[in-house]
Amino acid sequence: MHCNYNKYNYSTMTDVNQIKEALVKCGISPSRPRTAILGYLRNHYTHPTADEIFRDLRGSVPTLSLTTVYNTLKLFAEKGLCLSLTINEKQVCYDGQTYPHGHLLCSRCGKIHDIVQESVSAVTAENFICGHRVTEVHYYYKGICSECLVNENVS
Ligand SMILES: [Zn+2]
Ligand SMILES: [Zn+2]
Repeated sequence: MHCNYNKYNYSTMTDVNQIKEALVKCGISPSRPRTAILGYLRNHYTHPTADEIFRDLRGSVPTLSLTTVYNTLKLFAEKGLCLSLTINEKQVCYDGQTYPHGHLLCSRCGKIHDIVQESVSAVTAENFICGHRVTEVHYYYKGICSECLVNENVS
């Protein structure tokens, strides 16, 4: 079951009420941990891991456990509220931006960068390809990011 709510909305949803609304529309009760985790994902473009989300939120959500973070992210991914990225085989990363876009993993800094280009947006989710119904599209690129290339040329 994929929730289509806000799937192609490029704008960020920073407002707590909008976060709660997004959860309710996907049939998820908006508990404090869930609201905090979705809010975190929508406001951070760093493609965080479950550990990073737990580390950053445990101070403001005292009842939070790492297990809750893992279970919540799994639920969000199932409902289409976030993407789970396996570009880095060492760790699963999560993305609150669910519009169709690619990712580049930099071998120097280890950051995952968003790649927004027409060829990526052209094949959108919910399309049929060869009779198969597509619900997710992932484009993974590996290389050296523009920031690292600039730093290399300077030094
Ligand atoms: Zn880099
Ligand atoms: Zn992304």
